[in-house]
This record gives sequence, structure tokens and C-alpha cells, in this order.
Amino acid sequence: MIDGKSLALKLREGIAQEVSLLEKTTGIKPGLAAVLVGDDPASAVYVRNKKIACEKAGLYPEEHLLPASTTQDTLLALIAQLNADPKIHGILVQLPLPAHIESKAILQAVSPEKDADGFHPVNVGRLVEGDPVFVPCTPKGVIHMIDSTGLDISGKQAVVIGRSNIVGKPVAMLLLHRHATVTICHSRTKDLPSVVREADIVIAAIGKPFFVKADMVKERAVVIDVGINRLDNGKLAGDVDFDRVKERAGWLTPVPGGVGPMTIAMLLQNTLESAKRFAEQ
Ligand code: NAD
Repeated sequence: MIDGKSLALKLREGIAQEVSLLEKTTGIKPGLAAVLVGDDPASAVYVRNKKIACEKAGLYPEEHLLPASTTQDTLLALIAQLNADPKIHGILVQLPLPAHIESKAILQAVSPEKDADGFHPVNVGRLVEGDPVFVPCTPKGVIHMIDSTGLDISGKQAVVIGRSNIVGKPVAMLLLHRHATVTICHSRTKDLPSVVREADIVIAAIGKPFFVKADMVKERAVVIDVGINRLDNGKLAGDVDFDRVKERAGWLTPVPGGVGPMTIAMLLQNTLESAKRFAEQ
């Protein structure tokens, strides 16, 4: 099992030391502003967890909790204010936004130099070119987890299931830059199990509980489960049939306690790296 919780804890300890050193040497404390619009309970939990993680690592957290009725113009004005605020080095806008707000316009309004989630088109382009500045947090965490197994990604067959802009596409790009042979599967892939069966590395980012079955997984494959699904019994489950796949896979991530904690650690790291770049200027 790849223990995301303990990997993330180790990362956060390192980040805390670097934050303290940066503050001592430059007077700059990395600041992260989280913007949440509406009252989606899952989003509220994510934002609260990110704030707590910031505080523990010594970063400066700023929370902007806005009502669901907030207009796009009000949100854009807040983003402009955060872009100009020298205390803030990372801005994250919690998705999904209410339907009356155009997410694309909001994500594009975040300064590419403070885009802690790496969703701005400028940062997407930098990532595709192989010269990233902000790497999206979940994909960055996924690569760190694969590296923690000691597997050399170069030359391996990697299959990413899911093609979202947030997870599937950027994780595929990162694997490609590490010289894997990458296949992206999605809802229209023909005979998906036979494609996945060829993979040394499987990334499941679908949002469907227990989608990846044991007979789809090559023996000893590294399987990273990004999915977070709430079951009818209230429990969380990933996209992988954990209990059966663990008998075949070489390495597997649990849900909860896998990719989730790594995403938060990477958000802190992105904000720290951004603050360092500001310090250098
Ligand atoms: P999304 O809904 O944007 O994308 C899902 C993808 O799955 C789509 O590209 C779609 O083509 C593919 N898909 C859907 N049904 C399929 C099928 N039957 N066969 C093959 N492919 C299929 O989701 P997302 O934002 O990429 O998130 C995916 C999952 O990861 C969700 O459960 C989400 O909650 C979770 N997630 C977790 C973290 C974390 O920190 N652990 C971060 C982001 C997302």
C-alpha cells in the first residue's frame, strides 16, 4: 500500500521547515487565499482542511467565504484584489462554482503567477511544453506517490482512466514528460479492460466507485486511485475495487488516506514555491 497520509505528513514537515527559513531570511511568509462560493458541504470541508494544513505548516491562510448569490463581477473584483495583494502568493478558487458563474472566466482571471492549482491556460501551456511553473496539485501528488515506490516511470506503459482538465489530462502529461508510454481512456474507449490490462501504471480518475476490477489489472502494476465517491452507507470509496485489486497490484493507494492528503501537501508546496519566486524578484 502507498500510504498517502504518511507521505503527505513527511512532505508537510519539510515544507514547514522551508517556510520558516524563508520567513527568517526574507521576511516573506507564503500566503494562500482560498475562495469558496456557496454552501456545498464537501467543498466547505476541503477549504477548511486546506486552511488547517496551511496553519500547521506556518503559511498565512486567508479564507473568502461568499454566498451562493455572489455575482461574477463581485468574484472577479475579489480575484483582482488578491492578484494585487503582496501577502498572497497562491490563490485557489474551490470548484465547482455556482451555475450562474462562468468558471473559465474566473480561473482565467487568477494571475498565472499566483495560480496555486495550475488551472490557468498559461500554466496549462507551460505544463504541456514541459516547462511547468505551477503543476496541478492532484497530478503532482500522483507522480510523487509513484516515485515513492521506487519504480522508474521511464519506458513503462501508463494508462490514465479519465480525461478531465483537473486530473486526467495533466497527469498524462506529467507521465509523458517522465518518458512513460501513455494511453488515456475515457467513457468512449472501446474494450477499456484490455487496454488497462497492459499497464504497468494505472491512474483511475473517473468518479465511479469500484470501477477498476482485479481482472483489469496486470500483476504487480502500480495503481493510483484518485476517485473520491460517497457511498449510500456514507463511507468514502475510490474508483478501484481495493479489496480485490490489492491481491494483484504491486502497489495500490487507499481511499481515504491516499491521493487526497497528497493533494493538500502539493497545494502548500506550490504556494511555498510561488513565495520563493516572489522573494527572488
Ligand atoms: P470528471 O467528472 O471531470 O472526469 C471524469 C472522467 O472519467 C471523464 O473524463 C470521463 O471521460 C471518465 N469516465 C466517466 N465514465 C467513464 C467510464 N464509464 N469509462 C471510462 N471513463 C469514464 O472528474 P475529475 O474531476 O477528473 O475527478 C475524478 C475523480 O477524482 C472524482 O471522484 C473526484 O472526486 C476525484 N478527485 C479527487 C481528488 C483528490 O484530491 N483525491 C482531486 C480531484 C478529483
